Amino acid sequence: MSVRGVLLTAIALAFLALAIKCEHLAQQPLPKVVAITFDDGPHPVYTPKVLSILKRYGIKATFFLIGKRVEQFPEVARRIVAEGHEVGNHTYSHPTKLPEENWEQIRQEIEKCSEAIERVTGVRPKLFRPPRGFLNYKVLTLAQLEGYTIVFWTVSADHKDAPTPEAMAQRVFKLVHSGAIILMHDGRIPSRWKDVKALPLIIEGLLKRGYKFVTVSELFGLSKHNGKL
Ligand SMILES: [Zn+2]
Repeated sequence: MSVRGVLLTAIALAFLALAIKCEHLAQQPLPKVVAITFDDGPHPVYTPKVLSILKRYGIKATFFLIGKRVEQFPEVARRIVAEGHEVGNHTYSHPTKLPEENWEQIRQEIEKCSEAIERVTGVRPKLFRPPRGFLNYKVLTLAQLEGYTIVFWTVSADHKDAPTPEAMAQRVFKLVHSGAIILMHDGRIPSRWKDVKALPLIIEGLLKRGYKFVTVSELFGLSKHNGKL
């Protein structure tokens, strides 16, 4: 067989293997689970409110923390971990446009955040969510080199079209799906009361629809283990 023939055969086999894998995955739908995530904390007022609501329903969530805030409110950060929630890295100072920083600044933003979280809570985060979801090759490369899993979201409860807690909940019910990662906030802008008030509405509505709640790492574990908890 010519070199070209060998190459074409190899490509065809690779596509066949991929098709079989996709087919296999399609037969293993995720169970009805969602991961609720909170960005921009810890906050001395809103985070404890959120934690109390989660405790009331026995639900574990994932908090993407700002390193500087962890240093400001260490007790709140420790409570998040003590109550069994997952923590992720959301940079040290939450730059508005992280991709526009230089390599060293980006590296420091990520590293200083993880250092602060580990120093205060004893846990080193494995997940990274870039501020505002802004990602470019520099942020992607550095986060991957340091071994982080980059996490975005599939359903944002916070949206300009959802000005009330009720509207936030309705937005989630409209967009939710098995394996959804739901974005909410517990800090950074002056008021997060809307998120706090929307949380029990969202939880109750999703429970009624048959959803279970997991952390982001549990969710990723589910997709690796063919949907088995
Ligand atoms: Zn943020």
